[in-house]
Amino acid sequence: MNHEKTPYTDDTIVALATATGVGAIAVIRLSGKEAITLSDKIFKTLSGKSLSEAPSHTVHLGTIKSEDQVIDECLATIFKGKKSYTGEPVVEFSCHGSPYIIQEVIKLCLSHGARLAEAGEFTKRAFLNGKLALNQAEAVADLIASDSQAAHQIALQQMRGGFTSEIEGLRQELLNFASLIELELDFSEEDVAFADRRQLEQLLQRIKTTLQRLVQSFSAGNAIKNGIPVAIVGKPNAGKSTLLNTLLNEERAIVSDIAGTTRDTIEETLHIAGVTFRFIDTAGIRDTQDKIEAIGVEKAKEKIKKAQIVLYLYNEKENTTDEVVQFVQENYRKGLKILLLHNKTDNEYIGLSDFDKEIEEKLNHKEQKYDYSQLRISAKEKNNIEALKEILSSYAKELTTTESATIITNIRHLEALQQTLIALDRVEEGLATQLSGDLLAIDIREMLYHLGSITGAVSNDEVLGNIFSRFCIGK
Ligand code: GDP
Repeated sequence: MNHEKTPYTDDTIVALATATGVGAIAVIRLSGKEAITLSDKIFKTLSGKSLSEAPSHTVHLGTIKSEDQVIDECLATIFKGKKSYTGEPVVEFSCHGSPYIIQEVIKLCLSHGARLAEAGEFTKRAFLNGKLALNQAEAVADLIASDSQAAHQIALQQMRGGFTSEIEGLRQELLNFASLIELELDFSEEDVAFADRRQLEQLLQRIKTTLQRLVQSFSAGNAIKNGIPVAIVGKPNAGKSTLLNTLLNEERAIVSDIAGTTRDTIEETLHIAGVTFRFIDTAGIRDTQDKIEAIGVEKAKEKIKKAQIVLYLYNEKENTTDEVVQFVQENYRKGLKILLLHNKTDNEYIGLSDFDKEIEEKLNHKEQKYDYSQLRISAKEKNNIEALKEILSSYAKELTTTESATIITNIRHLEALQQTLIALDRVEEGLATQLSGDLLAIDIREMLYHLGSITGAVSNDEVLGNIFSRFCIGK
């Protein structure tokens, strides 16, 4: 279904746009054809002029009244015609932030014919009225949720357009080819070719390069948006909780002398140099008879699979070098950063010891070359923690670097890009084997469908429902 030209629903919606609870100001937002006329019925400007008479983009002081009772003295900001966030008339009342006032004003709007907005409905209208592409609308939610400088930057860039025009441009070019090929079908008797196959090949090549670049940017984008998952592992009592506390500089995880007390995984976040790290504390990773502990062990293995960085804690008294080597061998995979932390080296020389060097030698003698770093620390005495942070920071730089100028962070976009590339391969294959126009057109249409689903040029109600229901009410 193509929503671009569909006139959107006629009703006027209302919702609190600011956070719930007591605040200095609460903004109540109305959007829809009747937003201004409805407001005139409940809001009297101080000047006596109606909002319908006032120009767009103006702010008015006045009172909101329910019958004869004044509910609040507040400001009304008006946006007329299509020149608003939603692309339809909008009024925003900036009231005093009392829950009672908010409730009364919304009730009043409802009694005058508005209905409560659904989650994300304002942004959905902005999309349906052609104000935002779908991926831009999604970036609005990301922007609101962004909690680090890097995540904020990406969301802002995407909300302002990001790769929308690039994708739309390529889609339009492809659409022309699809039309030409389909036109050939009408003249199938005459064996004509309107669509230049060589040009099509070149276009496919350009699309492929662009899409592959975007797909590759996802892993960096994801690390920036959701944080880099870090697993802290080691035997019980290796100092995992202590290290986590030291890094976070506060007592959130429970530190205990009894082996295996950190049974549940705890997730904490830490920001270093504008990047979020998601630390995952786990129970020990030893083989164990203890049932409850065993759940923790399983979890630790799972977490390592999910992690992009793993911090493995060991020390000379409680580990053998073979144990450490085995850990690296068992858990190494391409792309995973392994940092071996020799803990409990309280106030000792911080260079590598013979024990550490033995680990290094053993790992270097393996056929497989492992990518890891080694560092001596004391989680308890906070020795070498700055060096640890520096290593984390350098890992973060690697994990968040991409050659792509635009970065994608949304799994829906990633899937659509991958689907487009699959269809693209089929088109290329079809061209190589001189597949008939009608079959070629089917694969091109499929590419168009997936490309269009990113920006929302093609969409359906289910997809839209899914996207916008994740927004909060009032957005
Ligand atoms: P976990 O089971 O791996 O989470 O280990 P904990 O963080 O609970 O630490 C176990 C014990 O080791 C506690 O008594 C800590 O105080 C102690 N510990 C942790 N790190 C260090 C350290 O760097 N030096 C010393 N001396 N003790 C430590």
